[in-house]
Amino acid sequence: MNKNSHKQDKLSLDEIVTAGLCMGCGLCRSIAGSERVEIAMTPEGRERPIALSPLDEKTLEAIDATCPGIRVPSAEPESIPEGAETDILWGPATQMAIGYATDPEIRHRGSSGGVLTALATYLLESKEVDFILHVAASKERPIVSEPRLSFDAVSVLEASGSRYGPGAPLANFMEVLDFNRPFAVVGKPCDITAMRNLERRDPRVKKLMRYCLSLICGGMSDLSKILSALDQFGIRESELRSFRYRGYGNPGLTRMETKDDKTFALTYNDLWADEANWGTQPRCKICPDAVGEVADIVAADCWPGASPTGEDEGFNAIVVRTKRGQELFEKAMADGVLTTIREITFRDLDRFQPHKVRQKKAAWARFAGMRAAGLPVPNTEGLRLEELAREQGWKKLLAQARGARDRVKTGRLGEPSATREPSKNDESYGFY
Ligand SMILES: Cc1cc2nc3c(=O)[nH]c(=O)nc-3n(C[C@H](O)[C@H](O)[C@H](O)COP(=O)(O)OP(=O)(O)OC[C@H]3O[C@@H](n4cnc5c(N)ncnc54)[C@H](O)[C@@H]3O)c2cc1C
Ligand code: SF4
Ligand code: SF4
Repeated sequence: MNKNSHKQDKLSLDEIVTAGLCMGCGLCRSIAGSERVEIAMTPEGRERPIALSPLDEKTLEAIDATCPGIRVPSAEPESIPEGAETDILWGPATQMAIGYATDPEIRHRGSSGGVLTALATYLLESKEVDFILHVAASKERPIVSEPRLSFDAVSVLEASGSRYGPGAPLANFMEVLDFNRPFAVVGKPCDITAMRNLERRDPRVKKLMRYCLSLICGGMSDLSKILSALDQFGIRESELRSFRYRGYGNPGLTRMETKDDKTFALTYNDLWADEANWGTQPRCKICPDAVGEVADIVAADCWPGASPTGEDEGFNAIVVRTKRGQELFEKAMADGVLTTIREITFRDLDRFQPHKVRQKKAAWARFAGMRAAGLPVPNTEGLRLEELAREQGWKKLLAQARGARDRVKTGRLGEPSATREPSKNDESYGFY
């Protein structure tokens, strides 16, 4: 039993949501079926599951075992190559470098240096997989993301760029397995955790899901974050034709295009100027693995201090974690798909991602505070949270724990039960 969590009975979907543990991945909908679980856009601007009828014990058990809101284990030891190091903060890595997509268009259009898009394209073109599961802007509602199955390079490139707002990439994951064709996934760390959890129960996942590519994640924002960006320019959502957060440069502009061909833009630093207005989802604030410990390869930004000082040509920090990741990385390098400029260490990652260092160090104490306030916490077996906590001074731990307990009491760490935003539901959920 994980020392970071207490024993808790199976949680209902509503309990997961109200505890602030759901980030809206959609896997429970896929497990239970769309006739029993709906992923709804809530008035808070989050995608959350609503059970349409009571779920039977077997379904609840399957959700309990796989939901990445409540199960966040470390990587399977056999997936990690011999000689890889496991850092207390960053998890396993066999190789780390600064690099970028060698293809100039991918590098330019990608979020940072286009490494994830380049690897996904390479997997398709070398026929290692038949398609990529990732997300792209919804065609009907461009401020929301939707699951995308990309069967060719054009589609992968179209979906490049980071999407910081709501989207449920796994809402149809069982249908993906039903195709019975090999695929790769690009997703946030929690998306990959969900699929790794499922992999332990469903042999089809092990057989078909060949690669998991991920990113280091600062968290998803509520829709209010994007709506306030539109507000700054007086744009109504109904007028919007496209919404892009970044890319086309590193970091590139946040760009809004209206149906009558007007374009508005914000710099990355302007969009994220005030942390109080990020609209970060409660689950993301306490995320115990936002660094993609269970992915094969992780790509991230590499600005010292985590903020860009201007535009550059595009660079990623690349963390190669598993045996499969190592094979892919080596082949991609040999075939000229990626270019690297230097190796890096875990301590470089500390400099690039100071917010992730603080978050991981605080996780154990925050969970203690949540438990003290009566909330369930995720099971984080193998993530070294208690070990990390032991390295902190007790005063810091106490402050973190009290802070979390108080935030639960004032409603900032839990969430209301999910209800539908008037006029919006998930009827349109599907692949495109
Ligand atoms: C919510 C969020 C928070 C992030 N926070 C940080 C951070 O704190 N620190 C940091 O270094 N980097 C962060 N990133 C990652 C960073 O923005 C880049 O995605 C990363 O550097 C990879 O760059 P790339 O050029 O290789 O990506 P690209 O080549 O542009 O590929 C991006 C891929 O990610 C997929 N994707 C984009 N958004 C989502 C999403 N919401 N859910 C699932 N898949 C998605 C796309 O479909 C695409 O396949 C964040 C990304 C996201 C989505
Ligand atoms: S985190 Fe995912 S699986 Fe868990 S309740 Fe939320 S949507 Fe469902
Ligand atoms: S911070 Fe964690 S829970 Fe939130 S989107 Fe990122 S990986 Fe998922």
